[in-house]
Amino acid sequence: MISKILIANRGEIALRVLRACKELGIATVAVHSTADADAMHVRLADESVCIGPPPSRDSYLNIHQIVAACEITGADAVHPGYGFLSENAKFADILEAHGITFIGPTAEHIRLMGDKITAKQTAVELGIPVVPGSDGEVTSENVLETARKIGFPVLIKATAGGGGRGMKVAKTEDDLQEAFDTARSEAAAAFGNPAVYMEKYLGKPRHIEVQVVGDGEGNAIHLGERDCSLQRRHQKVWEEANSPALNVEQRMKIGQICADAMKKMKYRGAGTVEFLYENGEFYFIEMNTRLQVEHPITEAITNIDLVHEQIRVASGAGLSVTQDEITFSGHAIECRINAEDPRTFVPSPGTITHFHAPGGLGVRVDSGAYAGYKIPPYYDSLIGKLIVHGRTRVECMMRLRRVLDEFVVDGVKTTLPLFQDLVSNQDIANGEYDIHWLEHYLAHHKAH
Ligand code: ADP
Repeated sequence: MISKILIANRGEIALRVLRACKELGIATVAVHSTADADAMHVRLADESVCIGPPPSRDSYLNIHQIVAACEITGADAVHPGYGFLSENAKFADILEAHGITFIGPTAEHIRLMGDKITAKQTAVELGIPVVPGSDGEVTSENVLETARKIGFPVLIKATAGGGGRGMKVAKTEDDLQEAFDTARSEAAAAFGNPAVYMEKYLGKPRHIEVQVVGDGEGNAIHLGERDCSLQRRHQKVWEEANSPALNVEQRMKIGQICADAMKKMKYRGAGTVEFLYENGEFYFIEMNTRLQVEHPITEAITNIDLVHEQIRVASGAGLSVTQDEITFSGHAIECRINAEDPRTFVPSPGTITHFHAPGGLGVRVDSGAYAGYKIPPYYDSLIGKLIVHGRTRVECMMRLRRVLDEFVVDGVKTTLPLFQDLVSNQDIANGEYDIHWLEHYLAHHKAH
């Protein structure tokens, strides 16, 4: 049993986790930096502890302070949210050594999926389809031979990769040496590890990911997929469930492959298996061993609270549903509302003077923002997520258009106008877009 959860995060996700804890009758502890003393999740938590100055490395990434906050408050579990320490195996180990439950997978599974080469090898062993590529690391000795075997264009990727860094395309043999050298030096600079591997470069894929939850005992379910192809600089902007590109058979087939893999692994907690999808084929790229930003669209179409499930399996209570009991209903879209200039994407921190969240049937706003809230400049610029649900994709889009007109955030610039453009776009209406679509669209619109 878990009786008090410390939420090791900030912003909308801290509030999201807090809401689930309250519903389950579990006491909550908020931790915060000095910059977040006025945050909504701090106000609503049963207790709060200031863990340091604004920079993340001194506060939200400070393991010692967070463990000390657990001990002071008697918290018996930690929910890490996403980002920060959520995929830090050392953090999971340290909590376990202190007898505190980490609400997430085992440290071993975090490590396994955190390294891209072992993640891919594991995926192959578990029967998950992967992108054709090198067997492990590529070196200056085998780089040319490997590329010829895979066939150009190829993509060189950092083993320790994340956030799209240390990734370089080689279109032909002439580009190969330079791509290899640049990827290695970027990887060394960003991750302290120059190791790279190679994959076939897919031209126009979609990004489709499968939500899974396991109980750590060999039971696991999938909750369908999300299409997150609309990205800018590898950051997701708009996500939808289900994917406009899949039919029911494809959905259930890839979902079952992922659920079966999680059963074999005895995976515990929520996770996301990410794929590129092209010409009817799925290619595994990575697995995230945590809750994701875009989880609410899955909740909207399945009516299952993923944070409740995370807490249940962490406490040993098992999953609340079996695969047979899960139904997929309607369509959901999430828009990430960032405090950024909608044209240049330059962050726009500052004080929100007016804030009005839209409402009505099928509308969910996950946000810690309010009128008078001062957005600190130290963290990411996500100030809220708008999630809209409808019985069909068409109804969902109609609702989204209405809801975007109602949303008011004054005092700072936000990406709301971008979504107003997107919701009226014909390609988006048709569901016809790949992972490059948004970058092309933005480049074109800047020119006008
Ligand atoms: P990271 O962990 O750095 O985000 P990923 O492996 O998740 O790296 O890939 C990030 C993005 O890079 C993908 O969403 C996709 O846009 C692109 N990408 C990755 N692998 C390939 C590939 N083999 N072909 C084409 N694009 C790819």
